[in-house]
Amino acid sequence: MERFGIDMRAMANHPAFSPATIDYAGAFNVVGRKTPASQVGRSLALNAHVDVVPTADPSHWRYPPFSATRDGDWLYGRGAGDMKAGLIANIFALDAIEKAGYRLTAPVQVQSVLDEEVTGNGAAAAIARGCTADAVLIPEPTDEQLVSANSGVIKFRITVHGVPAHPREAESGVSAIDAGLGLIGHLQRLAAKWNDERARHPGFEEIANPASLNIGTISGGEWLASVPFACSFEGRIGFYPGDDPRQRAAAFEAFVADTASADPRLAKANPKVEWIGVMQTGYRMRPHCSAGQVLQEAHGLAHGGEMRSYVMTCYLDAALFAVHANIPALVYGPVSENIHGIDERVSLSSLRRVTKTIALFAAGWCGVERAI
Ligand SMILES: [Zn+2]
Repeated sequence: MERFGIDMRAMANHPAFSPATIDYAGAFNVVGRKTPASQVGRSLALNAHVDVVPTADPSHWRYPPFSATRDGDWLYGRGAGDMKAGLIANIFALDAIEKAGYRLTAPVQVQSVLDEEVTGNGAAAAIARGCTADAVLIPEPTDEQLVSANSGVIKFRITVHGVPAHPREAESGVSAIDAGLGLIGHLQRLAAKWNDERARHPGFEEIANPASLNIGTISGGEWLASVPFACSFEGRIGFYPGDDPRQRAAAFEAFVADTASADPRLAKANPKVEWIGVMQTGYRMRPHCSAGQVLQEAHGLAHGGEMRSYVMTCYLDAALFAVHANIPALVYGPVSENIHGIDERVSLSSLRRVTKTIALFAAGWCGVERAI
């Protein structure tokens, strides 16, 4: 087993690395490896991220978000679906193979990585360290479907400044909050423009909002009776597999600059864009991917039906493995509800099927022999 952190300075020039504002001190990736004496099959990495997003107000949850409460088929909790269940499924799938009296005939890794939710730098650090294989499987909550393609994503913070003033002479000031809200309105036009490109990207044509501009935080103002001086907001916007994320970031910055120059009040607010999270392109599964075919067979055996696939309009660590390590990356995991929301929950019967599917996939991909 190896344990390693994310060394921001060592990683800075690696293409899988994204800008981060997080301090990774004291947090570690953990990778376990099992390597058979004779290797005849294809190697496999089973990957999962351990970080979770905030809960919002816990008093709005049916059960406390970190109590892992079971109610019928559902297990409630922040990270239940996204993606503690997948992390555990990876481990239990390998235990199941051993319990059945078999062992894999190719090397297998279990990877527990940091920070998928902001940057992907945990997976990037694993790739930079050589933790790759002939295929990677990541059991994100996908309702027992395979992700066939996903979006590229960039994450930003924009800060604007106004001119503070007393309300009795409010007209002499400029409200940073008004400027910030105005700019958010303009950004919707950029998202609509990027959405309009969907027809040129197979699999994305029917998706209503592939850019999925989200403003996730906003803060501003200094005093309830002063015209506010500063306002900043953070968000993310998506684009298409194969797009250069740096070009998209440059287009975003140009849009903000052009919008400001066309509006004197916004120009005065001098919007400043910072990049504070993932800056990566998406990926697309290759047609007739042999790893996908082995997963299809495993899904059929465990589930009894045809495996469906779909396009996911968010960042996935799988993109780093597919794009920067050039290995087949399969994202396939349990049924869950309300990920990133209130009352996140994962279906335990689905988790059991997914665990079986992973075990059968590992056996089919790596090969198995009877343990003596
Ligand atoms: Zn996730």
